[in-house]
Parts: sequence; structure tokens; C-alpha cells
Amino acid sequence: MNLELSDEQRAVQDLARDFTAREITPHVTEWDRAEQVDRGIVKKLGEVGFLGLTIDERYGGSGGDHLAYCLVTEELGRGDSSVRGIVSVSLGLVAKTIAAWGNEEQKQQWLPGLTSGSFVGSFGLTEPGTGSDAGNLSTKAVRDGDAYVVNGTKMFITNGTWADVVLLFARTNDEPGHKGVSAFLTPTDTPGLTRREIHGKLGLRGQATAELVLEGVRVPASAMLGPEGKGFSVAMSALAKGRMSVAAGCVGIAQAALDAAVKYAGEREQFGTSIARHQLVQELISDIAVDVDAARLLTWRVADLIDRGQPFATESSKAKLFASEAAVRAANNCLQVFGGYGYIDEYPAGKLLRDARVMTLYEGTSQIQKLLIGRALTGVSAF
Ligand SMILES: Cc1cc2nc3c(=O)[nH]c(=O)nc-3n(C[C@H](O)[C@H](O)[C@H](O)COP(=O)(O)OP(=O)(O)OC[C@H]3O[C@@H](n4cnc5c(N)ncnc54)[C@H](O)[C@@H]3O)c2cc1C
Repeated sequence: MNLELSDEQRAVQDLARDFTAREITPHVTEWDRAEQVDRGIVKKLGEVGFLGLTIDERYGGSGGDHLAYCLVTEELGRGDSSVRGIVSVSLGLVAKTIAAWGNEEQKQQWLPGLTSGSFVGSFGLTEPGTGSDAGNLSTKAVRDGDAYVVNGTKMFITNGTWADVVLLFARTNDEPGHKGVSAFLTPTDTPGLTRREIHGKLGLRGQATAELVLEGVRVPASAMLGPEGKGFSVAMSALAKGRMSVAAGCVGIAQAALDAAVKYAGEREQFGTSIARHQLVQELISDIAVDVDAARLLTWRVADLIDRGQPFATESSKAKLFASEAAVRAANNCLQVFGGYGYIDEYPAGKLLRDARVMTLYEGTSQIQKLLIGRALTGVSAF
């Protein structure tokens, strides 16, 4: 077993590190305070190839394996989780799902725009009444000639107000639970679709999170992604890979927490010496370091399984569960190293903790990941 990165993977990592240092890190506090990252970052992410990772070059993709995707996601997450999330959703949940489930026409229609950053994608599964219980969603798509008419509300949609297309999940028949759900690639300028930005988030403030209201939205039948009634399988396949991407972003947060804590501990003096000399501060730092390594190894294992064509969904849940909880612990330990200065936004610790906190909630809460892992191990479903 060799955990050494290849030259190509190392080059991608260096590229992502340079990009983050140049295009993201200098603006992080300003974007967080303004509650909006500069939209120009999307085009830049497209130009450097990060929005096309793992996608076939025929559709404007930049190829690469899933480990390269994780390396880039980690570096972006190390810089700013709001930017990382744009990539994880537009590429990870939308473009990659079109690549996996779309017909030729759908791939031609959406992938070149999504991989270049001309388009932004969003993923519309959650509703006000169904979060963890997504299979019971109530948005309805009723067949009318060569189209479906969609009515319903979607909640907490990342990239929501920016997106050109939403991968929308709606009920197309009366089968109970997830069996009646289908997926649609819906342009966001379709009449009847309105969007409201959700403000006041604890973290990910630079990201556009929205509520989408659909009133009589006409979507052509040709926009259905995957077979009729298989929308929940489309969503779950997207989230299985998506959880790896969230995990990689969490490794980035934890690594940023480690970097910041080590640097500050070396600079700050109390009791006549560097706080790095105090063993209880060293304990905080070593706890962060172990979390970083463990989360990274679990995440890389998922990428390796995907790249070798092996089953990976349970390992992805394990990585997401561990890495998200680890990112929260790491950011919290980092804040402790900073003392009172950790509590103000001139230093990085507070934002890392605020951004980390959502990671145990979205793309399946920690409780849901435990149920998925338990089901895989026992063969008995708790749902
Ligand atoms: C910033 C942000 C961005 C998001 N982006 C998107 C997006 O782009 N697209 C999208 O579709 N959604 C998105 N979401 C929604 C997110 O996926 C949901 O918030 C999440 O799935 C949890 O659903 P909920 O908030 O309704 O909580 P609930 O499902 O109501 O859960 C509340 C609590 O109950 C627990 N719980 C629920 N069921 C069980 C059970 N069976 N056993 C044990 N415990 C249980 C949960 O773990 C949690 O602790 C986003 C959310 C946020 C906050």
C-alpha cells in the first residue's frame, strides 16, 4: 500500500494551493462580513479547471481522478468553505450527476457551461417539511402533454439565487415515499420559479443559500434526469459522492485550524514564555493534528474506492460523519488556542468554527450517517 501522491496529483494540489492563496485567502474576511463571495470567483474556478474535475474532456471537463478532486476540495475548504461549497454543489452534486445519469442531449446542454463556470448548478432536494426524510418530499410534478407542471417549495438550496439550473426533485406519481420521485434539470429562469435568499446564517455567509418557490413551473418532459420514478436513486447517488466532497472540505477546515493554531501558539506569550510551551496547549494542537490525519485518510479511501470502481457509499458516510465532527472539534480547539482573540473575526478561528458547524447537518446529518452505516452493517433499516 502506497499513500504517496503521484506527481500529477501533487501538481493538482500545488495548483489548488496557489489558486487559494492568490484568489481566495486575501478576501475571506471581507466576503464573510459582506455575506457574499465575489461572483467572479466562479469563472476563475472554471478557467483553472476545478469545475470540470472527473468530467470527460468531450464535455469541457478537465478529467482527473477522485483523489485529485478531493485534493482540490480540501485546498478550497482550507481557504473558504463558501467557495468550496460552490464547487461541491455545482460540480459535485449537479455536473457529476448529469455525467452519470444524463442522456447525450442533456450532457451537451449543461456540462460545458457548468465545467467552464458560465453556469452555476444547484441541488433542490430539501423542503420545509422534509429534510432528513427527503424521500417523503411533497413537491409535485404533474404531466401535461409534453411537459410537467411543478408546484412546491425547496429550502436551504446552496447556490440557489445564483444558479442557472436546479436539479429538482419532485413527485411524479402517487407511489408512497421515495418511489414516486423523479429528477428534473430545471432552468432557474423558467416562469413561476422564484427565489429568496436566506440571510442570518451562522456560517457559510459568503454562499448564496435560498428558498425556491415553484408555482405552475412548466418543465419539458425531456428535462427529466434518469428514468421516471428513479429520482430518489439519482439523489442518493449524487449524495454518496457528495459526502466525500464535504468530508474533503472538512479536512481543509481542520488543516486550516491546525495551521492557525500552530502559528499563533508560536507567537503568543503568557507566563513569560510562548504558549506553545504549555503542555495543555500542545494537547489542543495534537488533538487537531490527529483529527486532520484520520479525516484525510478516511476521505482518501473513498476516492480510492471510487477510482477503482468499488462500492463506496458506506465508506463515504463514515468519512463524512468523522470528518464533519472532526472539523467542528478542530476549529473549536483552534479557537481555544487563540483565547479571546479567537472570538473576533480578525483571526481565522471563529469563522472556521462557524463554517464547520453546518457540515454535521447537510448532505445527511451525523445521525442519518450513523443510521446509514448501521443499516449497511446489520442489513436492517431504521427508516
Ligand atoms: C447552509 C445549508 C445549505 C444546504 N444546502 C442544501 C442544498 O443545496 N440542497 C438541499 O437539497 N438541501 C440543502 N440543505 C439542507 C440540509 O441537507 C438539511 O438541513 C438536512 O438534510 C437536515 O434536514 P432538516 O434541516 O430538515 O433537519 P431535520 O431532518 O428536521 O432533523 C432535525 C434533527 O432530527 C434528527 N433526525 C431526523 N430524523 C432522524 C432519525 N430518523 N433518527 C435520528 N435522528 C433524526 C436530525 O439528525 C437532526 O438532529 C442545506 C442546509 C443548510 C443549513
